[in-house]
Order: sequence, then structure tokens, then C-alpha cells
Amino acid sequence: MIKFLDNKLFRYLSVFLFLNSSILPVKSSSALAAWAINTNGVLELRTKSNTNLKAYFQKSNQISGDRFWVDFPGELKNPRTIKGNGPIKEIRLGKPEKGKTRLVIEFKEETYLKPLTWQMVGLDQNRWRIKLFNSKYSFKKIGEGLVEKKRGNIKANQNVIYKKKNNYGYLKLPEVKRNNFEVVIDPGHGGPDPGAIGIGGIRETDVVLEVSKIVKKLLSEKGVKVRLTRTNEVDLALPPRVSIANNTDADIFVSIHANASRGKRRDINGLETFYYKGWRGRLLAKRIQKQILRVSPGSPDRGVKQGRFYVIKNTRMPAVLVEIGFLTGRLDARRLEKITHRKRLAYAIAKGILEYFDKVG
Ligand SMILES: [Zn+2]
Repeated sequence: MIKFLDNKLFRYLSVFLFLNSSILPVKSSSALAAWAINTNGVLELRTKSNTNLKAYFQKSNQISGDRFWVDFPGELKNPRTIKGNGPIKEIRLGKPEKGKTRLVIEFKEETYLKPLTWQMVGLDQNRWRIKLFNSKYSFKKIGEGLVEKKRGNIKANQNVIYKKKNNYGYLKLPEVKRNNFEVVIDPGHGGPDPGAIGIGGIRETDVVLEVSKIVKKLLSEKGVKVRLTRTNEVDLALPPRVSIANNTDADIFVSIHANASRGKRRDINGLETFYYKGWRGRLLAKRIQKQILRVSPGSPDRGVKQGRFYVIKNTRMPAVLVEIGFLTGRLDARRLEKITHRKRLAYAIAKGILEYFDKVG
């Protein structure tokens, strides 16, 4: 495998995520020769050698479902649409503009995709693959042309793509001056007050405590001093949470919560961050909000807002209250149940905090 890497034949291609609707320019230098989507959810491509591809993902909107596409140079002769099956609605081959080819895979509604973990892997100079969906979906292979040209080579390379992935590679935490900053993290609720109760009985107190502990660990590793207002299921009123912060030299206060909608509406999802006043609080809220949205694709951005919550109103330092999703929302709850998503959120919150320190100093 090392030899293979040295030969520079092994390439990773990042997938651009379009959670809103901006479009990045396409840069590529080769044409699509063959493609196939296998029963295990892996898309394979064959292109001309040394292709510089770009891949994209966009969440569903009013017009279409979740879409993944790859752009290639060289104009396609016959634009066409191929009916999908299983989780795939259809595959479209088209020319988005003169001299280009676009392969679009549109998924059916309710397909569970994890685009944040997607990686397009270059197997050799003209072959690529990316895992798009889980093999739990039943799917009949679709494709055009021969993806596997030289049988021998392919076998030899097959192990390489199962290289262990770093789940958090996309979230590099910034470095800040060590032993210089202090943060109070406040996991909302606790003890007899579970906070919001969501789908399947998921409790806010449990979710936010776990996220808070991971934030503490991540920040501590960066040399930031962190104090939690609670570390277990205790009943802690709001005034002591504030005095814990006010009695220290904490630079910032971050209260972590999860939402519930009135009437427990499953269609209401989203993330929001509140600050009470001041540009520092607002900046901190903006940094955190931006990062938590990145790890919650498809969940609405409810924005950075001013709020008069007790804990952020009465703390003396810049203070924010983060709502990491709706436990009553179908999309958010399904994620908040999972430790992997809680870790991602903790990473995102830690990243927002470190970015704030980096900026404010
Ligand atoms: Zn709460």
C-alpha cells in the first residue's frame, strides 16, 4: 500500500457539500468513459487518465431530492435519463454547459445519506469510486460501459479503498495560545429536570451533558481551561450556573441545549444560537452556529439571535446559548440519538469557540 501511495496513484477527492444553494466553479480536465452503481451502494467511474474531477452534493429542495453529481470536461453527445431503483430515483447524464458532461444521481425521499463521510477515492489514474449508500438498501446494479478495464490491476488495488477514515478530518481544530483562556460550559437542565423529551423518549439532559463533556475534553487538549456547571444528573438551578461563571475569570460562557417544538411537530428541525448583547457574544454565537450547521446537513439554520435567557443575561462575560437541534424533529432526533453526531456537534462547538479566541485574542 505504501508503494502505491508513493506512486501518487492514490488520490482522495473531497465532495463539496451544498447545504444552501451556492455553486462552485467546475475544474476538470478529462471525460467520463464508463460508470456503474453497484448493489453495495458504490459508484464506480472510469475516466481518461489523470483526470481532475470535482464532486458535489446538494440537499433536496422544492424541485428535486438529494443529489450527488460529478462534472467532467468534454461534451456529452446524448443527454439521457436513466430510471433508478431502490434508494435512487434517477440518473441523469447531461451537459450543464458547452463542453461539459455532468453525471447526476438523484435519490428518493427518505433515503438516509451521510454526505459528510463521503470520499471519492482514486483507485488508479483513471478509476474512481465512492460509497453513496448503505448496502441495507436493496438496489439493482445500473451502469454504462466497462468500468473495469484491466482486471488484474483492480484486484491488486481493492484493499486500498478500505483505508481507515478519520471521521473528523473535515473539522481541524485551530490552535490557540495555551493556558490563556477559560470557558464555562453549561449543560442545560439535569436531575429531576430532563429538559425536552423527544422522539423515542430521548432526553435533552443526557444529550447536552454528553456533548458538553466532549467539548470540555477537546478544549482541554488545546490548552483551554474548562469548567462544567454540572458533570452528572444533578438538579442545578439557574442562579448557581451563573455564579459559577461570575466567580471565575472565565472568558466566555456557553450553555448547551436541545430544542422541542410546540406540539412535538416532527417536521420542525434546525439549529440556533442565542447571545444576550455585545459584539463579542454575537461573534461567539456566529462562530458556533456556523460550525454546528456544517455538521448538520439539511437541518435548517434558525440563525443567530438575541435572547434574554437567564443564564446568558446574567453572566458577566460574553455568553451564548446553543440549541443543537430539535429532539422532537424527525431529522434532528435521529441524529442526536447517535454518539457519532454528538461528537461532531462537540467538535463543531469547540471549533467555534477556538475560532472566537483566535479572533478576539
Ligand atoms: Zn433546554
